[in-house]
Formats: sequence, C-alpha cells, structure tokens
Amino acid sequence: MLRLHDTATGEVRPFQPREPGRVSIYVCGPTVYGPPHLGHGRFSLVYDVLRRYLEWSGLDVTFVSNITDIDDKIMRLAETEGRPWQEVAAHWEAVWWQAMEAIGVGRPDETPHATDYVDQMVAFISELIDAGAAYVTADGVYFRPRVVADYGLLARQSIDSLQAGARVEVDEMKESPIDFALWKLAKPGEPSWPSPWGAGHPGWHTECVVMSHDLLGDEFDLHTGGQDLRFPHHENERAQASVAGYSFARHWMHNGFVEVAGEKMSKSLGNFRTLLDLTEAHDPRAYRMLCLQAHYRSPIDVDATTIGNAEGALARLDAVARRVRDRLGELPAPDPATIDRFVERMDDDLDTPGAIAVMFTTVTRINSLLDADDLLAALPLVAALFAMTRAVGLVLAVDADEIPEDVVALAAERDAARESRDWSRADAIRDQLTEAGWVVEDTAEGTRVRVG
Ligand SMILES: [Zn+2]
Repeated sequence: MLRLHDTATGEVRPFQPREPGRVSIYVCGPTVYGPPHLGHGRFSLVYDVLRRYLEWSGLDVTFVSNITDIDDKIMRLAETEGRPWQEVAAHWEAVWWQAMEAIGVGRPDETPHATDYVDQMVAFISELIDAGAAYVTADGVYFRPRVVADYGLLARQSIDSLQAGARVEVDEMKESPIDFALWKLAKPGEPSWPSPWGAGHPGWHTECVVMSHDLLGDEFDLHTGGQDLRFPHHENERAQASVAGYSFARHWMHNGFVEVAGEKMSKSLGNFRTLLDLTEAHDPRAYRMLCLQAHYRSPIDVDATTIGNAEGALARLDAVARRVRDRLGELPAPDPATIDRFVERMDDDLDTPGAIAVMFTTVTRINSLLDADDLLAALPLVAALFAMTRAVGLVLAVDADEIPEDVVALAAERDAARESRDWSRADAIRDQLTEAGWVVEDTAEGTRVRVG
C-alpha cells in the first residue's frame, strides 16, 4: 500500500482513497503571465510521476489542475504591453502546454480556468458572508481566518504566530492582518465581473475551492502543490472549504524547492531560467531524471553538473535498451522480485531515488547476463526495467543513436587499424575510448561502442 507524507498530520501515513480503485487529485496550476520556470517544471514532474505510478498500479486516476487566467500580475503585464489581458493569458498558457509537452508531462483530465468560474465564485463568496466568515469593505470582500478553529494546520503554526508575521498592503481595508481577499473591486480600467459588492475580480484563494468542488465534489483524495503553496494559499483554501462544510482534501502533499547555486528558485532572485531553456540545451528527459534522483520533499539543485549527471544516467538506461532492441517485441513477463523491490521503494512515500537505484542494479545485472550470452535470464530483467521506467514516465531512447560522431569515427579508425594489422594503433584507440568511459566490444561487424 502506498504511504505518503501528509502535510496536515506532518507524518507519512497510508494513502487511502475514498473509493477503492479510484483516486482524485487536484494540483494547483500556474498563473499564466510568463514562461514556466524550473519550479513549475518540478511540481509538474513530481505529480506526473505520482499520477503515472498510480495508473501503472491499476488505479483509475482523475487528475485536475487549474489555469489561473485572471490575476493582478496578468492585468499589470497586459497594461505594460498594451494588449488585452485575455491575449496575455492565452499566450502564456500556450507556452505552458508547450513546456509541459517538452518534459513529457501528461495533460490533466480537467483544466478548469478561473474566468469560467466567476459566477460560481460570487455565489460561494455570498455563502461565506452569510455564514459570518467574510465581510464587505470599501475595496472588496475579506475572509476572517479566526472563525476556523484549526487555522494554521498546514502551516504548522498557531494563528497568533501567523498573524504576527502577516503583512498588510497599504491599499487593503482589513479587520486583521491575517484576513485575505475573496473579491477585489476593480480599479478604473481593470477587467471586471459584476457582483453584489460591485464590479471586480475574485481572489486567488477562492478559485481552487470552487473548481475542485465542481469537478471532484465535496471530498477528494489528494490536494498537492509546491512547498510555497502550503501557506497561505492552501491554508486559505482549506479555511473557506471548512466554513462551506466541504470535507475537501483527505491528504495534502507538497514538493520541495528548486535551488540554483543553493538559492531558492524564484523570479525575484534573478536566477530565473525557463523550463524551455533547459529542454533546448539538454535531453528533455533529463529534468525528469534529475527530479527522480531526489526525494520529492527535498530541495534539488539544478546546474550543468546535476543535469549532466542525469543525462549520463539516461544514457546508461538507453544503452541497455539498445543492446536488446531486436528482442523488445518478444519480452517475457517482468521479473517479479525486481518489480517487488521497485514497488516497495515507490510505496514508501515515493522513494524515487531508491526506485532509480533498483533500476540501475537491474541494468548492471542485464549487462553481465548479456555479456555472458545468457539472453534467457536477461530478458525478464529487461522487461522489468521497461515496466519500471514506464511507471515513472521515462521513455528510453531505443532507436536514437546517441553515440557521438567523434566516438563513432574513432571506432571506425580502430577497425581500419585492425584491418591493416596495426595492433598498437588499434589498442591505443581502445584505451582512449575506455578512458573516456565507453565500453568497447569486438563483434563480427567490427568495433562496437556502448555506454557501460
Ligand atoms: Zn489552489
């Protein structure tokens, strides 16, 4: 049984979907006003891996992830660029899907857009006002977290300490610093929707409560997002849901930050690097591998070295796949003991570094069996390797010939040297290739080079 860390309890506990065999997941999606960065890529990959693993395990997964297509940042950008906010949001949403495709993240089953839910959000905010949890001011509608007894659960802090740290913007008219906006009245020239409190737009924290309720119902299995969403976003979503009487998320999951040279990845730090930059400069699968090599709750460092190591790991997997490429159509059942070890690691709070280690132990075993011409013993392991990579969304490049041209040229030169019985030259080239990390094999067709 899968066990996952639950932010609400602070411990790893069994993940028990409300309906056996079915899992509903809500992932807070992007606000579309700029290119997706590495942090976006990480949360998308972490929950894509989870989704694929659950499906691979035989569960029926409903995966919902929203698009925030109205927001102060979108409006400001539209104003700066002098074009309609709808155009800005549509453009950056298209770039988002392009980047997701580049890193192999599957489309959600449902992608609710905030602007399609404004009427439902207005109705929901009215309910919160009627319940005494929200109040109207001259600049909008605010929520009072004090009415929620366990506010601070996800932040794992008391409401008093959260209140002490809360910041008040100069233009906000709140009763208390910890209150948050449900509805913001439009300033002149801003896009707006009608409401009983005046024309304006909804606050971000209300979106996911209303959209998840519409698409997944009163209660769903898993609510996820990056570590930075724990507070205030998820805490505030939970507070509204609890006033509305929704059971809401049964389990909360948050992934760690992306660090670049030890600093948290964010636009403001100036170390911004987009996901598309990364996929253009490197094997697009490398970021998935890098994320898998770390536990999802740990921070990861992204730089040329860590991405290069991930590419090297992929090359080892590809190399073994290429060695057996002629047999891939006739693979036997996967070796059960290997699959058991993999599942054991994945079920332990998605221990993907452990699962990757199982894959590489399998690679080593396959290579020695193939070296010994024991194809019969190797093939169940090959089948297990493919089952494991499929479970986490890694596609092995069986057909791509990724041996660099200069290496191919050296191998050809070695064959020529052997042909002309220049053994010392042939040996020198073999040493040169071996030193560069290649495995050099003599076959009937000549020198074969592969990744070890
Ligand atoms: Zn959300």
